[in-house]
Amino acid sequence: MIPVTKPQLPPLDEFNSYLKKIWENQWLTNNGPLHQELEQALCDYLGIKYISLFSNGTLALITAIQSLKLSGEVITTPYSFVATTHSLWWNNIKPVFVDIEPDFMNIDPEKIEAAITPQTTAILPVHVYGNPCDIDKIQKIADTYGLKVLYDSAHAFGTKINGNSILNYGDLSILSFHATKVYSTIEGGAIISHDKKTKDRIDKLKNFGFADEVTVVAPGINAKLNEIQAAYGLVQLKYIDEMLVKRRSINSLYRELLKDIKGIRLLPEAENSETPHSYFPILIDKEQYGKTRDELYELLKTKNIYGRRYFYPLISNLPTYRGLPSASESNLPVANKIAEKVLCLPMYSELSLSDVEKICNFVKQWS
Ligand SMILES: *Cc1c(COP(=O)(O)O)cnc(C)c1O
Repeated sequence: MIPVTKPQLPPLDEFNSYLKKIWENQWLTNNGPLHQELEQALCDYLGIKYISLFSNGTLALITAIQSLKLSGEVITTPYSFVATTHSLWWNNIKPVFVDIEPDFMNIDPEKIEAAITPQTTAILPVHVYGNPCDIDKIQKIADTYGLKVLYDSAHAFGTKINGNSILNYGDLSILSFHATKVYSTIEGGAIISHDKKTKDRIDKLKNFGFADEVTVVAPGINAKLNEIQAAYGLVQLKYIDEMLVKRRSINSLYRELLKDIKGIRLLPEAENSETPHSYFPILIDKEQYGKTRDELYELLKTKNIYGRRYFYPLISNLPTYRGLPSASESNLPVANKIAEKVLCLPMYSELSLSDVEKICNFVKQWS
């Protein structure tokens, strides 16, 4: 079976030697030595100033919103994983959906201004599939209207623009280290901040608001990452470059083999950027390809190849959100169209190039 994604587990003997350390010093959680070591290692690796580790990406998002003190309305994209919008809902904030642009499927900066009201406090874009949003245009709008920018960078571990980490943009960014993501601590996540004061505040918020033993400065939550997962992350980090190289070659082979199939559109490659190739999305045009996306998806399954319709259904079409005025299909024509056409093909570091060929041959054969 070829799944859409598969975690690459770090070598067991290396993980074991870290476990031995934990058993020796018996510090299991609450900013332990491995947690501190991982924060430093990630700052160095990613080229960022401050990171706060979390038990998952969703709690990182929810806490980031808390730390920015957002309220009222937040402008976001319907084309993402549900956690993006759920994090607003958990903060009692009304999501305002803005359509995406058709190349990279990121929020369309040209459509943001029209969605701003006196209640708007922030923009929550997603670097979809790890391709950078138009950070300059988004920042300019935010500056003009006095809005915060929080990037959901769950797909963008290692994304760089002109050699600079994408995580250095906006007020805050979050990462997810879930097992299905490029870099993993099994479950885990992080908030990236740009100054020590903000990091300290976030660190308190993820630990019930404790400033010291007897001082609770905010109604914080428990979103700490434990030492065992930090150990997993430290070992994983030694292999990340190797994994990224493999993903890059898988991406190139897919592009080479799929480029001339009628009715199959690939995303452009982002200019001046490095991306982790988190996913490999293709768009299927029924008229030209002769089959719908769902037909191709089902056919691949008969060959034991499992794609994923990321992102379908759109968040704006879910029962929780579809009643919102901004959720209407007429407000989100591009996102609705893309959600019907997109299929993410298998992408993980241990996917063999011969399996990539096999997948592409099927896609070609059925065209
Ligand atoms: C995975 C993901 C999240 C949530 O991260 P978890 O660690 O699974 O909680 C949020 N946003 C996007 C875009 C994601 O892909």
